[in-house]
This record gives sequence, C-alpha cells and structure tokens, in this order.
Amino acid sequence: AGPPPVTRYNLNSVTITNDPVANRENVLVLTPMARFYQEYWDNLLKLSYPHELITLGFILPKTKEGNAATIELQKQIAKIQKHGHEKERFKSIIILRQDFDPPIPSQDESERHKMANQKARRAAMAKARNSLLFTTLGPDTSWVLWLDADIVETPPTLIQDLASHSKPLTVPNCFQRFYNAEKKAMDERPYDFNNWQDSPTAQELASKMGKDDILLEGYADMATYRALMAYMYEAGADIHTEVPLDGVGGTALLVKAEVHRDGAMFPAFPFYHLIETEGFAKMAKRLGWQATGLPNYKVYHYNE
Ligand code: GDP
Ligand code: MN
Repeated sequence: AGPPPVTRYNLNSVTITNDPVANRENVLVLTPMARFYQEYWDNLLKLSYPHELITLGFILPKTKEGNAATIELQKQIAKIQKHGHEKERFKSIIILRQDFDPPIPSQDESERHKMANQKARRAAMAKARNSLLFTTLGPDTSWVLWLDADIVETPPTLIQDLASHSKPLTVPNCFQRFYNAEKKAMDERPYDFNNWQDSPTAQELASKMGKDDILLEGYADMATYRALMAYMYEAGADIHTEVPLDGVGGTALLVKAEVHRDGAMFPAFPFYHLIETEGFAKMAKRLGWQATGLPNYKVYHYNE
C-alpha cells in the first residue's frame, strides 16, 4: 500500500450564500439535548432544507435523563436512517455523550432559571456546546444551525429563511405557547430573553462588577434596561425585519461556519461579563461579525 491519501479542501470554495439550496451548501444542525421531545424530532424531520445536505450533531449528559434521551434519540434515528424514505435521510448523524457532569441535577424550569444557578449552569452549557462544535464542524460546513432540543415548532423553511439574510449570525424570536386561564384560550408569550441590544445601564453595571461576575438578563434583581428582541415582535409586520443584536440566545441560531472557524465559541468563563451564547455574540463581534435578530420571525419553545 502507498502512503495515506491526502485530502485537500479549499476553504474559499466552500460557499456561504443567501441561496444555500441552489449552491448545495452543507448545514450542521447542533443540538445539546437533556431530554428527548418527540415534537422537536417531528419538527426537525419537517425541515424542507435538503436532508442530504444536513449533518445532525447531538450532545447529551451522562445522567439518568440523558441516558433515556439517548435511547429514544437512537430509536428515532434508526427509523429514519435505516427505514425512512431516501429524501428523509440525513447526510450523517453524530451523537456525543458528555464527559463531565452537569452542575445541577434538577432540570425543572423554575430550578434552572434561579439566578444563583445561572453561572454554573451556563458554564456547563457553554462547555457542552463547544465540545459539540469542535468535534463536528467540518471543512465543508457552510452553516451551523444551533437548535435546542425543546424547540418544537418552526417554519419548515427555517434554514432557507434565516440564510436568505446572509448575515454572520441570525436569530429568530423564540416564543412559547401556553394555556391562558384568564382568556380561557391558547395564547403565546416571549420565551428567550438572551436576544438583546446593549444599554448604558448594563454597561455601567458591568463596569462596577468583579472580574468573575456575569450580567444576566430577565431577572428583576438585575435591571439592565437592555432592549429585548422578545418584546420587539409586531403582529402582522414583515417577518424579515432585521434588528442588530449584542447578545443572543441559542434556542435557534444560524451561524456562518466561518464565524466559528475564525474562533468564535461559547465562553464558559466571564467574557466582558458575559457567558455562553451571550458571550459568543460578543466574541463574534470582537472578530468583526455582527449578530442580527428577526423579531417577527417566530419559533416556539416547549411548555413544561
Ligand atoms: P432554557 O430553555 O434556557 O431553560 O435552557 P434548557 O435547559 O432548555 O437548555 C438548553 C438546551 O440544552 C436544551 O436543548 C436542553 O435539552 C440542553 N441541555 C440542558 N442541560 C444540558 C446538559 O447538562 N447537557 C447537555 N448536553 N445538554 C443540556
Ligand atoms: Mn429550553
């Protein structure tokens, strides 16, 4: 046998355009997953972006819940990849099991969102996202779609719609459906408060903080007066309206792969007093990449 073959990739021939379907651009869909939701999976299967161009990557914690989710995920994957119609099958699928324990065993929404738990939890999430990103990003990846495991409803054209903006980072507005007891009807409310525009108050707060302290959004104890995309939604307005953002969430987030290849990742440590996805937006910005929000383009988070 001769020497091992050398594979060459010209990164400048990997296109990242506003028409990724026509240009056959590869999309990496990355999901950190603590629980398996059938609605997430069904929605994923309905995405109309050509599945043969999509690689799926998952990372799950080694907890009891993570084990159960892994089993369910593998079952669903086998259904599609082995027995599904050719059009349904994805290019490839990678499942990672985390090599560190989550800091907080309980995953209830109220427990998760306690301010005191945020720093450790967000740091662990940042590490999970980085592990997933650095082991799956390929030389032929054009786009990375971050999609949380509890995003249960998006337009089927999500990838095409977000990519059509051709921005380095593009974020839809994440809402949650719920039963409104007062109105006795289904209703919806904003969910993801990590998509924001910075404020002088937040800057001022940060300037007085210790170097290891972080700013958090959506907590009454820490009024930042940032402008939240969650509240910028206008019924009936153009779904393609753009707003610049300084912080982003990771519930659904489309990133040009070159942003990650430049080195933008999810800091597990306070970076300008920001952590995880919000720190990522800041790091991208320091590298010259601006985040864009689509306040009228909605996706929906599961309601526990
Ligand atoms: P929230 O919606 O901001 O409260 O955050 P979640 O708890 O929903 O977490 C965000 C995403 O990370 C979801 O897809 C979760 O399933 C997933 N997740 C939560 N905790 C962990 C963890 O410890 N490890 C991994 N790998 N994923 C997690
Ligand atoms: Mn969630």
